[in-house]
Amino acid sequence: MDYRKRFAVEPGTRVQLGKIDAAFRDKHESHETAMPEIQKPLERMAKLQYLLYADGNQSLLVVLQALDAGGKDGVVRHVFSAMNPQGTSVFGFKQPSRLEATHDFLWRAHLRAPGKGEVVIFNRSHYEDVLVVRVHKLVPTAVWSKRYELINDFEKMLGQNGTRILKFYLHITRQEQLARFKQRLDDPLRHWKISETDYLERELWPDYIEAFEDAVERTSTKHAPWYVIPSNHKWFRNLAISEIVADTLEEMDLKLPTTRVDIAEIRRKYHLAAERQDQKLSKTPVKR
Ligand code: ATP
Ligand code: MG
Repeated sequence: MDYRKRFAVEPGTRVQLGKIDAAFRDKHESHETAMPEIQKPLERMAKLQYLLYADGNQSLLVVLQALDAGGKDGVVRHVFSAMNPQGTSVFGFKQPSRLEATHDFLWRAHLRAPGKGEVVIFNRSHYEDVLVVRVHKLVPTAVWSKRYELINDFEKMLGQNGTRILKFYLHITRQEQLARFKQRLDDPLRHWKISETDYLERELWPDYIEAFEDAVERTSTKHAPWYVIPSNHKWFRNLAISEIVADTLEEMDLKLPTTRVDIAEIRRKYHLAAERQDQKLSKTPVKR
């Protein structure tokens, strides 16, 4: 199945998250039976990221947004296990620092946007400024409501500079979130990941869903589409996202740079000469 077609939000269409099956897993019975399919896009991504880096003319920005325990960290780990850390980076958007807060809301996003040849993942992103900021009324409506357009312009500019943008909303149900919170409570290794805030934020679930629906609807564009990824099954979420990333990279028409040197001459004049010299040296007795 073409997951890009299946999960993309067509620009201008209304999204009703409540109507989207978060437990969708396509034709796959289980994680075990899907394993071969999960492996394939990882191998494609590894090759394509090498090409993106070598080509050096374009870049990829992956935006991850979700409610707490939605699986952003898991996606970072899985999808990017395929890529070479050289040329790949992740940036997590926390509450703005004092310096960040003195600038416009897009400043910190622009600062971390990928340079040519790079892949960057935003774990949370500039979208927090129309999500948490809206839900908690951190700025007046007149301020956040203008941000959708600013985001579209910003992403368009990055696009024109050679950056492909993929935005993923990891869609889980409330029940799945609670089950994941419980796993955190039950596992001492994950205690650091849970806090009262997670439960307090959960109370605001309908407000967050409304804010997400608006954001996705107003900012899903041809050059920077949103994908709503069914994420109750972690393995299916990983499979869908890695296929979308691999398909997108494939479409970018990446090419190895044309060789600027004369390979035949380097082989003849330098390499063979170096080999001969090494041979000679290995025959020369070592002086003690
Ligand atoms: P995560 O939940 O993403 O795995 P975390 O729980 O490890 O991260 P936190 O510091 O709790 O780390 O998460 C970042 C917090 O910063 C989130 O609650 C997020 O909503 C908040 N945040 C991010 N950007 C902004 C912003 N622009 N304004 C206010 N709060 C923000
Ligand atoms: Mg958190």
